[in-house]
Amino acid sequence: MRPFDFTRPDDLEGACAAGFTEGATFIGGGTNLIDLMKLEVMAPAHVVDVTRLGLDRIEDEGDGLNIGATVRNADLAADPRVRRRYPVLSRALLAGASGQLRNRATTAGNLLQRTRCPYFQDRDSACNKRTPGAGCAALGGEVRNHAILGTSEHCIALHPSDMAVAMRALDAEIEVRDPEGGMRSMDLDHFYRLPRDTPHIETRLEPGDLITSVRLPAPKGDRQIYRKVRDRASYAFALVSVAAVLRMEGGKIAHAAVAFGGIGTEPWRDIEVDAMLTGETPSDSLFDKAGEVLVQGADVQDGTAFKVPLVQRVLKDVLWRAVA
Ligand code: SF4
Repeated sequence: MRPFDFTRPDDLEGACAAGFTEGATFIGGGTNLIDLMKLEVMAPAHVVDVTRLGLDRIEDEGDGLNIGATVRNADLAADPRVRRRYPVLSRALLAGASGQLRNRATTAGNLLQRTRCPYFQDRDSACNKRTPGAGCAALGGEVRNHAILGTSEHCIALHPSDMAVAMRALDAEIEVRDPEGGMRSMDLDHFYRLPRDTPHIETRLEPGDLITSVRLPAPKGDRQIYRKVRDRASYAFALVSVAAVLRMEGGKIAHAAVAFGGIGTEPWRDIEVDAMLTGETPSDSLFDKAGEVLVQGADVQDGTAFKVPLVQRVLKDVLWRAVA
């Protein structure tokens, strides 16, 4: 690990000012950042601890919730309001990582975690995300845990978060404070950037921007399911996951929001899939069609071809469970 400066501000102003300095990065739980610093995949000159800023509360906000940026994943999963009204989020959190990691990892850190592409973590491999312009060793390499949607010729890395998949299905919004003290909201649908020809730029945050909270609106559907398929049940990233938030009225699907993990370069949601489900009567043919629409244009490598039928089957199963 390379030497770095460390500060632990106790107010937002100080944190954002420190975060704006050259080579600075924020740290919450550090469950991903410290690993990458040990590997020297990330080598920040200045690490700014944001765990003393009072951002560790979950508060009611109108009919929704405001989740502080440094709320621990374990606390968020266990919160009675989350378990009762946003069970898809609680289940997604509990499906991610291990108990020890969930006790450390924070809400903002979970959103900002880096890909687990093995070539990204191996400094001897070519990686456009780690070193822009270096090439991509994953193309033509081992790609079982890579994306099939949102990819580019420069990067096919998967976004690894479970939590963010559920949050996309719940229409979450992110609150951000800039270094001048201005606040702005971004909906999660527009927070991440596709890799295109700049895979090293992963979100729309600017230098010094600090996520202060995530807002969940009132749940639009009471039928919520998160299902994750992985190589081992105890602790692994998703091969495929599906988060569904549905509401039924008179035997028809009145609201559908479905998001996916394990297949996209960002937590994936396809408004075409949601639109074709909404207003319809559940049927095998409808759910098959949704699966076809989802993967149209998928960029499949030999090692990821299995994800197409897998995600279609998991989607169909989740939808039937949700409408049952
Ligand atoms: Fe790097 Fe992306 Fe290629 Fe992985 S897929 S090696 S992260 S450029």
